[in-house]
Amino acid sequence: MRIRRLKLSGFKSFVEPAELRIEPGLTGVVGPNGCGKSNLLEAIRWAMGESSPKSLRGGGMDDVIFAGTATRPPRDFAEVTILLEHQTGEDGERGESEVTRRIERGSGSAYRLDGRDVRAKDISLLFADAATGAHSPALVSQGKIGAVIAAKPVERRQLLEEAAGISGLHARRKDAEQK
Ligand code: ATP
Ligand code: MG
Repeated sequence: MRIRRLKLSGFKSFVEPAELRIEPGLTGVVGPNGCGKSNLLEAIRWAMGESSPKSLRGGGMDDVIFAGTATRPPRDFAEVTILLEHQTGEDGERGESEVTRRIERGSGSAYRLDGRDVRAKDISLLFADAATGAHSPALVSQGKIGAVIAAKPVERRQLLEEAAGISGLHARRKDAEQK
């Protein structure tokens, strides 16, 4: 699974609609302090289902919405879309999916997958199966490198399970056991 495109509108400092193309290979984000590099990574994690405001450096979920500046009024919604390219079958055939998360000030957020309304859980299973997602060990945020190194064996096992793509199976087993 690969992120091909990222569309943002009203997310944190990305007040105007912005679209980024992500080419194959390693992508670096460079720019002066405060220009929005970490916000970009947070936008990806948020669209993938991140549900902790604290890990998005906010106090509440609405804090991802552009809050306004001296010269610009605040926005009342934020929306992030990621266009994914993934393998659809064993034969290596490629498919595309579009995941959108939108939050309205005061009324929470909702997800769409290829234009259809879906649950947060559908999004987390989609990424768990692809061994990535909001808590993927592949997304190491600023200041978290030390935490990964210092992780306890059990926590490190969870990281490895996610990296190996089997945490989706665990989520489904837990689900089945509860039924
Ligand atoms: P550094 O190099 O210091 O790590 P950075 O490029 O990672 O910087 P970010 O942390 O992504 O920068 O961006 C911080 C900027 O985003 C700040 O100017 C902050 O005011 C702005 N910002 C964050 N949340 C919002 C919001 N909800 N509304 C408007 N601006 C916001
Ligand atoms: Mg940063």
